[in-house]
Amino acid sequence: MGFIDAHTHIVFKDTVTNGLFKLMSGELWRVPVEKLLVTPRDVVSMLDDANIDYVGVMAFPLRKIVGDVTEEYTIKVINAVRDYADRFAIIGGVEVNELSIDEVKYWLNKQYESGISAIKIHPVHHWVKPNAYRPEEQNLKQLELIYQFAEDHRLPVYIHTGTSIAPKARNKYGDPIFIDDVSVDFPRLTIIMAHMGRPIWMSTAFQLVRIRPNIYADLSSIPPKKMLEYVPRLAEISDKAIYGSDYPGPGVYDIKANLQEFLKIPIPNDSIKKIVDDNPRKILKPLSRNR
Ligand SMILES: [Zn+2]
Repeated sequence: MGFIDAHTHIVFKDTVTNGLFKLMSGELWRVPVEKLLVTPRDVVSMLDDANIDYVGVMAFPLRKIVGDVTEEYTIKVINAVRDYADRFAIIGGVEVNELSIDEVKYWLNKQYESGISAIKIHPVHHWVKPNAYRPEEQNLKQLELIYQFAEDHRLPVYIHTGTSIAPKARNKYGDPIFIDDVSVDFPRLTIIMAHMGRPIWMSTAFQLVRIRPNIYADLSSIPPKKMLEYVPRLAEISDKAIYGSDYPGPGVYDIKANLQEFLKIPIPNDSIKKIVDDNPRKILKPLSRNR
């Protein structure tokens, strides 16, 4: 059995929107957009070459950042990879402050029936605090619905933490401390805290992973060569950490090379195996094993 890459931003030629194309043509990336866009078949070849069993692909709405990526995008991406259902896990989502309660219910059900493997909440790109459902915050029922739905349907929820360099990102929402409320209010929910609050809230993120049984650390976007600088006590949380490359995010252009670098991190071998194999396999199921 191979490895699992639980966090990528793979964009397919057939499902790219105008807004996404424009963003990926911009100066955040240093390679031509044509090189960033792939087919599902291309990805399967890359995975075979890298000994990766399956990848998690982020396909959640991003109205505020790119305009035309909505809840429908998730469905299109799932349909694009259906022929390779054992190689992809598609991560959907709904934009809670753009939709009514009924619309949120509609899209969660529709995405679930299509086969999402997880739900993503991106506080920094959606401009929402992860705990905005709380009465002392915004009382945002749409957000509460997501967590309830995910708990009831056993879907893990990824929550982005840390800063983003995307235009229109609001980094104040990137503080992982707001996830503490979610872990307390939804104890049966599996929370995947993406990026460990990189780079300014890493100690908060580390402590939450240690003390909250349902918060897992997604290590994506932290360069493997610098991993132990950022997370010196990585081995201590190896039962609760999962690997992700963030490919093809700015700076990560080779899914295999990133994994190879990760495998070289000087912590015990069994800790590495848990992070790139056992833990993600338990938490994130590919499209084929959803039902
Ligand atoms: Zn990401």
